[in-house]
This record gives sequence, structure tokens and C-alpha cells, in this order.
Amino acid sequence: MPEGDVLHRAALALGVLVGERIEAESPNPRGAATGVARAVDGRTLEAVEAVGKNLYLRFEGGLVVRSHLRMTGRWRVQPRGARSAGRPWLVLRGGAWEAVQSNGPVLELDRGSRRRLGPDVLAPAADPGELAAALRRGDPGVALGEALLDQHLVAGIGNMWAAEGLWQARLSPTLPLGSAAPGELAALLDWLRRAMLASVAGRRPERRVYRRAGRPCPRCGEPIGSRGLGDANRTAYWCAACQRDR
Ligand SMILES: [Zn+2]
Repeated sequence: MPEGDVLHRAALALGVLVGERIEAESPNPRGAATGVARAVDGRTLEAVEAVGKNLYLRFEGGLVVRSHLRMTGRWRVQPRGARSAGRPWLVLRGGAWEAVQSNGPVLELDRGSRRRLGPDVLAPAADPGELAAALRRGDPGVALGEALLDQHLVAGIGNMWAAEGLWQARLSPTLPLGSAAPGELAALLDWLRRAMLASVAGRRPERRVYRRAGRPCPRCGEPIGSRGLGDANRTAYWCAACQRDR
């Protein structure tokens, strides 16, 4: 799944079109059905911003397009007129560059969904203490690994980062949210924020537990475990020997 840092890189790439009057088209019928190309064609792109796992494109006249890539979607920026494989959902053409959105799957004119997201872990002014306070608005009985992925609490954290952050913090993803101290959550979010910002800048972290089930924990040598967690049943990875679960 594309994580927040992937979206931030896409937002940076799309920046080459900011300030340009855009020619828009939707070669793919599903893309055309969203009405986005018709709505933005001929308008100037004013800003592109990643918030959590959403990419927001703001056009003149207050028009905002929301893109969420889920598992399949992607954005690519290429020289105007370059060949595109398949039939993109949306092509935004400027003078020299074009941005190509493929496979949706969520592409829509924004109707306020953004207000329902929690604070973005990567926002320039984000403070770990405030992010921890936002996280603690969740149900105290919910597993910490689930709470971290709830975009309505804190936006931008995906499964890989949740696993790696919890290992660094020595907290189990199964620990009830209410059993983690505010200071522990602030330290966890501070680590996540720093590591994700480094990733935006191109420095990929070494994975300690994510997708390493059965291999030895780099800290204590016990085998790393994994299992599905929560309603979405996303696979959590952790070391039961050195990550506290109560
Ligand atoms: Zn361990």
C-alpha cells in the first residue's frame, strides 16, 4: 500500500505543473465517469498537497481534487506527449510536463473528506505531543497497531511504518491504546515522523520486523511473529519477546 511518504514524493513531482493552466482528459471510461477531467480542464493548478494517504490538487476557483491510491493506483510525471501504457484515469497536461494518474481507484472532486482526517504525521508544524494527543482520542481498548493505522486519529501512517515504529518503541501492536503512556506515544510518533521525513528525502530505512516473520529479532534474537489485526485484518509484525503487550 502506498504510504504517506510515497504520496509526498508524488506531490513533489506534481509540483512541476503548479502555476500552469491545465489541459485535462480521461482516456479511461471509469476516469471519465468521475467528472474530474471536465471540471478541471482549462483551470490553473494552484497547489498540490499530500495529507495522510490522500493527494489534494487545488485548482483556481476553489476546486479541489482528491486522489487516494489504495493498493493499485499511481501517479507518474513525464514529458508532455510521452507514451502512456494502458488508459489512464486522468492526464493533466502543462506546457512541458504531464501528470498521468492510472488505476484510480479513488479520484473525485473533494467534498470535505479532508476535514475528517486526523493531523498529518508529516505536516511541517506537526508536534509529537499533539500527534500523541490526537492518537489518544481513539478507543482506549483498541490495539495500538490498529489505532496507528486509523487515519481519522493521525493521518499518513501505513502498515510498514506502524510495524517498524512499534518495534523501535518496544511496544506490541496488540497493546491496548489506553495502556501506552502519553510520553511513549509521543516518542513513537516522533520516531515515525523523523523516519518518514527521511524517507521522503530518499533515505529508505532498514526494515527490522516488517515482512520478516520467523526471522530473528535484530534486538533480542527471538523469532519475529505476525498475525492479522483488527477489522481490516492487516498483518502486524512484531517481536513478542521485547515489545511490551500490557
Ligand atoms: Zn525482540
